Amino acid sequence: MLTFNPALALIAKPAAAALPPLREDLKLFAVGTNRDGSPAWVIQDPISNAFYRIGWLEFELLARWDLANPEAILASTHAETLLDPSRDELAHLHAFLLQHQLLEQRDPAYKQALITRLREQRTNRVKWLIHNYLFFRLPLLYPAQTLQRLLPWLSWIFSRTTVLIVLLLGVIGLALTARQWDVFTSSFVDTLSPSGIFGYLIALAITKSLHELGHALTATLYGLRVAHMGIAFVVMWPMLYTDTGEAWRLAQSRQRLAIASAGILTELAIAAFATLAWNLTDDGDLKQALFFLATTSWVLSLALNASPFMRFDGYFILSDWLDLPNLHERAFALARVALRNTLFDFGDPDPEYFAPSRRRALIVFAWLTWLYRLIVFIGIAVAVYLLFFKLLGLILFAIELLWFILFPIWRELTVWHQRRAEIRLSRRVFWLVLIAGLMLLAVWPWQTVVHGPGYAHPEQMHAIYSPLPAQLLAAPPELGAVTAGQSLFVLEAPHRSQLIALN
Ligand SMILES: [Zn+2]
Repeated sequence: MLTFNPALALIAKPAAAALPPLREDLKLFAVGTNRDGSPAWVIQDPISNAFYRIGWLEFELLARWDLANPEAILASTHAETLLDPSRDELAHLHAFLLQHQLLEQRDPAYKQALITRLREQRTNRVKWLIHNYLFFRLPLLYPAQTLQRLLPWLSWIFSRTTVLIVLLLGVIGLALTARQWDVFTSSFVDTLSPSGIFGYLIALAITKSLHELGHALTATLYGLRVAHMGIAFVVMWPMLYTDTGEAWRLAQSRQRLAIASAGILTELAIAAFATLAWNLTDDGDLKQALFFLATTSWVLSLALNASPFMRFDGYFILSDWLDLPNLHERAFALARVALRNTLFDFGDPDPEYFAPSRRRALIVFAWLTWLYRLIVFIGIAVAVYLLFFKLLGLILFAIELLWFILFPIWRELTVWHQRRAEIRLSRRVFWLVLIAGLMLLAVWPWQTVVHGPGYAHPEQMHAIYSPLPAQLLAAPPELGAVTAGQSLFVLEAPHRSQLIALN
C-alpha cells in the first residue's frame, strides 16, 4: 500500500483550468484513524488492485473533485470544513492521482501516449526487466475461488483447540530435542554438503508455500479476495508472495494483524510438528527430511520473517501495529536528519513530528536496521563465497555492497558535500571526533608481532614412569645421541632404602 505523501508526489504541472474527473471504478474505504487521531481513508484501484492511503485533507478535496474547477474546490473546502488547503496542496494531489492513473482520461493525446507506453513495455522486455529488476512480481495462481472452496474444510485450523495442541506438541518436541541436543547439532554439521543444501532448498520450498497458504486462507476467512499469488523477485532473489492488498479494507487492525502474522504462525506450526516427529522417528531418510523441515522452519520464522529489519512479515506487522505505514523510510529520514544535526549543527527540522520517546525509539530502530543489514548482507556474500561458488559470491558481494551500503553512504556524503558551507564544527563534534580518535588509537593494531613463551616437543614421545615414589638424582644434560647400556636417569627411592636399612 502507498501512503499519499505530498513531499513524494511529483508535480506534473500546475492544476489545470478544469480537472479531469476521477475514475468511476475506484473505491473508497474509511480505515482506522492515524496515530495522531486524524481520520484516514484508502482508495482501492480494482484494476491494479493497488491501495492508496490518504488523510483528511485529501479526502475533503476528493469529495469536491466533481466541481472540476481548482478555485471552486479550494473555496468550497475552506468554507465547509476547518481546512484551508493551498493551491500547492491541490496540485500535489492532482499529480499523485495522475501518476497512479486514478483519473479518467478523455484527452485522446493522453490515451494514445498511455497505449504507446504499454506497447513499449511489452516489446522491450529486457529494458523493462532492467528497470524493474529490483522488484517485480510474477503472478502464477489466481486462487480466490479455490480458497473459498477450501475454507470450510480447513476452518478447524483457526480454532483455539488447534492452537493449544500445536503449542503443546511444540513444547514436547523442544524438550525432547534438548535431551539429545548433541545429536541434533551433529546432524546439522552432517548436512553442510551439496546434497544437504538440496535438502534445505526442498524444505524451504515446502515451508514457504505453506506460509503463503497461511496468509491466503486467513485473508479468505475475513472475507477478502486473494487476487493472485506467485513469485516476487527482489534484487533478483525469488520469493513467494500472496496479494493481501485488500487487507487495508479491514477496519479492525486485529484482523489485519492476523493476516500478516499467519505466515509466521504457519512456519512455527510446521517447526513444532517436524521437531516432535524428528524425535520420534528412527534414523533414516524420513528423519533426515524432518530435520531439514524443522531447522528451516525455525530459522525462517524466527530469524528472518519475524525480524523487523528487513521487509518481511515482521516489518509489516510492526508497522501496522504501530500504525506507521512506510516505517523504514520514515525512521531513516528521521535518523539522517538527527545525524546531520548532531554532527554539523545544521539545525534542520525533523521531517515529521513524533513524541520525544517515540522519536528516540525510531532513530534507534533506524540505526539497528542499518547495522543488521550491513552484517546480514556481508554475511550472505561471504557465506556464498566460502561455501558455494566463488564467482557468484563476488557478484553478489559487489551488488549488495554497492546497492545497499555504498549508494546510501554515497548519497549521504553528497548531501554533506553540497552543504559543506553550512557545516559548523560545534564543541560537541570536537569532543566526538576526539573521543572517536582516541578509541580508534586504542583499538588500532600497532603491533602485528606477538611474543610469547612456547614449548617444542618431538613428534613421537614415550612417557616413562618410576615404578615407586622416587627422587630424580641425575638426568642426561642435553638432548643428543646416546649409546647402548648408558644409564640415563638415576632415581632414589628413600622409603625403599629405609626399609632395606631396617632389615
Ligand atoms: Zn509472509
